Amino acid sequence: MTRIRPFLLPVLILAAMLCATWLVWNHERQNTSNQIRSQFDFLLRETVSRIEQRMASYERMLRGVQGLFSATEIMERNNFRDYISSLQLDANFSGIQAIGVLEWVPEKQKNAHVAAMRRFGASNYAIKPAGQREVYTPIVQFEPYIGSNLTLSGLDQWPDPVRRLAMEKARDSGMPVISGMLRFSVDKDTDAKTGFIMYLPIYAKGQQHDSVPTRRAHLTGWVFAVFHMHDLMASLYGEQLPGLALAIYDGVDPSAASLLYSSVDGGTTSQHSTISANEYLVVAEHSWTLSMSTLDDFDVHFGHNANLLIVIAGTSLSLVLALLAWLLASGRARAMRLANTMTSELHKKIDEYEVVQALMLKAEEALVESNRKLESLSATDGLTGIANRRRFDEVLAKEYSRHSRSGVELSLILLDIDYFKAFNDCYGHIIGDECLRQIAQVIAECASRAADLAARYGGEEFVCILPETDLIAAVAIAERIRNGIIARAIPHSGSSVADHVTASLGVVTARCSADNSSLAILSQVDELLYRAKSLGRNRVEHQYFETLMES
Ligand code: GH3
Ligand code: MG
Ligand code: MG
Repeated sequence: MTRIRPFLLPVLILAAMLCATWLVWNHERQNTSNQIRSQFDFLLRETVSRIEQRMASYERMLRGVQGLFSATEIMERNNFRDYISSLQLDANFSGIQAIGVLEWVPEKQKNAHVAAMRRFGASNYAIKPAGQREVYTPIVQFEPYIGSNLTLSGLDQWPDPVRRLAMEKARDSGMPVISGMLRFSVDKDTDAKTGFIMYLPIYAKGQQHDSVPTRRAHLTGWVFAVFHMHDLMASLYGEQLPGLALAIYDGVDPSAASLLYSSVDGGTTSQHSTISANEYLVVAEHSWTLSMSTLDDFDVHFGHNANLLIVIAGTSLSLVLALLAWLLASGRARAMRLANTMTSELHKKIDEYEVVQALMLKAEEALVESNRKLESLSATDGLTGIANRRRFDEVLAKEYSRHSRSGVELSLILLDIDYFKAFNDCYGHIIGDECLRQIAQVIAECASRAADLAARYGGEEFVCILPETDLIAAVAIAERIRNGIIARAIPHSGSSVADHVTASLGVVTARCSADNSSLAILSQVDELLYRAKSLGRNRVEHQYFETLMES
């Protein structure tokens, strides 16, 4: 779970962002498709409307030609030519190949017609094809009257069913009518061109033509215009429509046979076209089917296609955000791991430190203990176990200065064993040492208060420091020591040597503070001890310290 957690948020963000991208993309796609569709519909309607307008203008033009014949004879070539040239077909009615006039000639008027035509200037005029028919509709006027058009004069249109159908409809309705699809071979070199002819009937001057019978009865001919479909469409659009394929079929059934016009070679609709639609239009009493479809590049021309941009930008943004989130999440995890490692290392260090500290504490205690032992050793006499001379000097200096400040009495006892040389000589040093130990014990027992100090002064001499002790009490203690030594039996080979051991003692008491050093009091107590020796030994001599100084 903890391994997955850093990836959870980035994956969620990625999914959400991709989802959002898809939504925007889809919306844009539908938008684009709607835009393209409405653009297409608009272009389709516009194309139909252009064709209808153009055809209407052709109709008006043809009605003008028709009007010409309400004033002149059908065969007046010069009038017709002037009128047509005044129309400026190329500039104003491009798409029209030619304009002409047909005359309605029943069989019984044929000869008169031919004669009249020859009289008007066409000297070798004849109705083509030759042969006897019930009725003829030869071309009597044709503009422009040049090139191959010259051979069209006198050509009978009636035998052709497509032309005849349109001519009949125009005759009966009095309205402009266009024929079905025709193929014109203009030159021998070029392919036949598809097109149609628009007919408008001419009725006899001053006669009624408000019903089908009267129209049939008074028909004298037709004015007609020839159209090549391709030229007509080119005049509408110049170049072909960008991104669109346009086809026009004759009638309501789009098939290859009825293809009147196609803007793309070899077919009507592109295989890849996304949108296509058919629209029916009725021009001059005739039905056409207009088929329009989009080509591959229609989207480029009309769609503001932001789809690819959205996909690229959306996906990139999703990836960047997911990456950021991952960096943040994993960075936090990394930091946590680092912190944990550091914390546990710190704990380890603290444990180690505590162990070291405990060891140091123990070592310190051991050091203090050994110092204490060393100190007590250095302050203790090795033989007797009581304080040594060094310790005595320290305590004496301290107690003497205390006495000097406070004035409280301080007493000092100095003891020397009598004839100890002889004792040693008699019993030997080992026994002598034992004797020293016994005497030290006696002295320690007698000067036993906490403040008292019993010490070996050197050889077989001992001292006692008795703070806050007056001379009487000090002498009492000294006497107790002297008697204690006598009383103490020194065991030796089953006999006691106590009778042979005595000691002489000097006692000094400092009473009030005096500016003397501890050396002076020591020398005085030594003197008292010497006095005790000289007065016979085994006795105590005592004195106040200042008394001695005064005397
Ligand atoms: P006096 O009564 O005058 O003091 O005579 P004394 O023989 O005791 O003379 P002194 O005090 O001068 O003698 C010191 C003797 O003490 C010398 C030595 O044999 C003995 N002595 C000193 N230190 C020791 C010791 O540590 N052990 C033993 N066994 N004898 C000692
Ligand atoms: Mg001595
Ligand atoms: Mg002695």
